[in-house]
Amino acid sequence: MMDDTKRAPFRDDHEEFRTQVRRFVEREIKPFHADWEDQGIVPPSLWRRAGEEGLLNCMLPEPYGQGGDFGHSAVVIEELARVNASALGFSVHSEIVSPYLHAYGTEEQKQRWLPKMARGEMIGAIAMTEPGAGSDVKAVRTTARREGDHFILNGQKTFISNGHNAGIVIVVAKTDPELGAKGISLLCVEDGTPGFGRGKRLKKIGLRGQDTAELYFENARIPAANLLGEENRGFAYLMHELAQERLIIGVRAAASIESFLERTIAYTRGRKAFGQSVFDYQNTRFKLAEAKAQLTMLRTFVDDCIARHLRGELTPERAAMAKLNGSEMQNRLLDDFLQLHGGYGFMSEYEIGGAWIDARVGRIYGGSNEIMKEIVARGL
Ligand SMILES: Cc1cc2nc3c(=O)[nH]c(=O)nc-3n(C[C@H](O)[C@H](O)[C@H](O)COP(=O)(O)OP(=O)(O)OC[C@H]3O[C@@H](n4cnc5c(N)ncnc54)[C@H](O)[C@@H]3O)c2cc1C
Repeated sequence: MMDDTKRAPFRDDHEEFRTQVRRFVEREIKPFHADWEDQGIVPPSLWRRAGEEGLLNCMLPEPYGQGGDFGHSAVVIEELARVNASALGFSVHSEIVSPYLHAYGTEEQKQRWLPKMARGEMIGAIAMTEPGAGSDVKAVRTTARREGDHFILNGQKTFISNGHNAGIVIVVAKTDPELGAKGISLLCVEDGTPGFGRGKRLKKIGLRGQDTAELYFENARIPAANLLGEENRGFAYLMHELAQERLIIGVRAAASIESFLERTIAYTRGRKAFGQSVFDYQNTRFKLAEAKAQLTMLRTFVDDCIARHLRGELTPERAAMAKLNGSEMQNRLLDDFLQLHGGYGFMSEYEIGGAWIDARVGRIYGGSNEIMKEIVARGL
């Protein structure tokens, strides 16, 4: 459906990988996705199969990952977005948690966790948000007090993706509450740590298959060896890594729009009203033409961001723009596509309805779009 021109950031090995990922999605994900949405969680066995197939930690070198680059990560993100496989928290694990461990972890920490994560034997989560602190990360109230060789961790986190399945959680905590943003550290908390508890699975209007949890820490004793990077440097690490998280949301948005544009064209061509196909009404063709024009612009920008990111040149402002434009456009266009499906758009059987609801969170998480505007505005 998109222009046939080869997409600049992707090499032949990326496209070969895409074929492999697409097969995996057809075989291992699509037939089961509705069940996972009913259960509110994806079974750990699927993660292990994804690991065997090379879909996890794509961008990290072996043995920590699959030896690829962000282009391989983008392929996985796009192929999941095409079928709206929203139950999977792969990108939190592979493109957020693992890169933190890789960038800031000691050799011992990397050896201990990353190969298992690449195999899907250990699932990763990151816990920044608290009931009273989301956008304003430096307002977190979770504390980690040093006591000999341990930190004593106390606090509560919420909305944590992969929270129930996680074998390792990077927890954002204040090690020096007096210092504000300069008193924040990252601690790696492992499953089974006494004092680490998980609340009920949160019920959501979308991403219903994704496990999203509350986490509790009550005098949890975390070995000092689980501190990630330097003490009190956590906020700077977060700011550095968030650009990639935002680019991911832009990548996902473009792939979702592209896939659902194709489906809407096919649907409206086949649907008849007043003796002609819905596609042949000027309103339909204009809506779809607008969608195509906007998508082409978004795709061009996002691909440029991917290329810059591969060269290590993606700025936080551009990443924020990719997230802002991508998620806003996705919300608008999926709403138009749903409308063009009429009543069938509202039926679960047609995936456009699910994709429309799932897209909504793109404007909120990864830093809300208001915060993205703040980031862009700072550079004006
Ligand atoms: C499904 C889901 C999964 C998530 N996964 C994770 C996860 O894995 N880990 C994690 O740590 N967090 C996660 N989050 C949390 C997410 O990142 C936060 O919800 C988000 O950052 C917004 O924070 P908040 O909900 O506290 O909203 P608030 O910060 O309370 O914002 C409320 C409103 O005020 C606006 N606002 C806030 N500050 C400003 C400002 N300076 N200027 C203008 N407007 C402003 C916001 O844009 C928003 O519209 C997840 C959230 C959801 C819904």
